[in-house]
Amino acid sequence: MQKENNGLNQLEVSKVHHWTPSTFSFSCARPDNFRFRSGEFVMIGLKIDGKPVLRAYSIASPNWHEEFEFYSIKVENGPLTSKLQQLKEGDNIIFRGKPVGTLVNDALLKGKRLILFSTGTGIAPFTSIIRDPETYEKFNEVILFQTCRQINELEFGKRTVESIYKDELLSEIVSDKLKFFPTTTREPSQYFGRVTDWLKSKKI
Ligand SMILES: Cc1cc2nc3c(=O)[nH]c(=O)nc-3n(C[C@H](O)[C@H](O)[C@H](O)COP(=O)(O)OP(=O)(O)OC[C@H]3O[C@@H](n4cnc5c(N)ncnc54)[C@H](O)[C@@H]3O)c2cc1C
Repeated sequence: MQKENNGLNQLEVSKVHHWTPSTFSFSCARPDNFRFRSGEFVMIGLKIDGKPVLRAYSIASPNWHEEFEFYSIKVENGPLTSKLQQLKEGDNIIFRGKPVGTLVNDALLKGKRLILFSTGTGIAPFTSIIRDPETYEKFNEVILFQTCRQINELEFGKRTVESIYKDELLSEIVSDKLKFFPTTTREPSQYFGRVTDWLKSKKI
């Protein structure tokens, strides 16, 4: 991590993966001494024409992970993402090292069940929360919904959930407490249709 004079830090990108024509994820090494609560967001961006262009991004990785992961949309002509989508391994992003946000375990009372609803890249704070052991200390059951138009848009969430069960420690903590319902509204899939209809039908 390199520090600049203007309170911004530079981070080197170590991994980039394009999931669909409109979404991608990228990771950097976790900044030195950087602490955050799973579910928080930071301001990240690029220097474009010499000026920093920053946007809010949820940290998609949990607070214990050595990787600092983000899951991003590609907005056509978006001031930041039209450039950010061209990131390659070894490039630098800039970030302001102040994590904020209220989608965190501290904001929740202990309970039986935690239900997380997301669409598209809105799953990012939840891929952090579902990989945090504290979540499973507070809740017996964690149910994650993600709704997208097409099946391929659900892949980032599916792979993240799979990675939990491949992790020796985390899989033991999570056990059968996590349920994932990836639903689609345009392309037929196992859970096809509006999530509100699925909930009303009581089939899930
Ligand atoms: C608290 C917070 C957390 C965020 N976390 C993420 C994140 O983890 N991943 C992420 O991709 N974006 C996230 N965003 C949105 C992000 O800040 C930017 O808006 C986005 O990266 C596009 O930047 P841009 O400069 O290319 O276009 P902008 O000028 O910022 O956006 C142009 C338009 O694109 C649409 N748009 C922007 N972001 C999205 C999105 N994610 N999904 C669908 N449509 C969108 C909106 O209609 C917006 O008006 C978050 C925003 C907030 C407020």
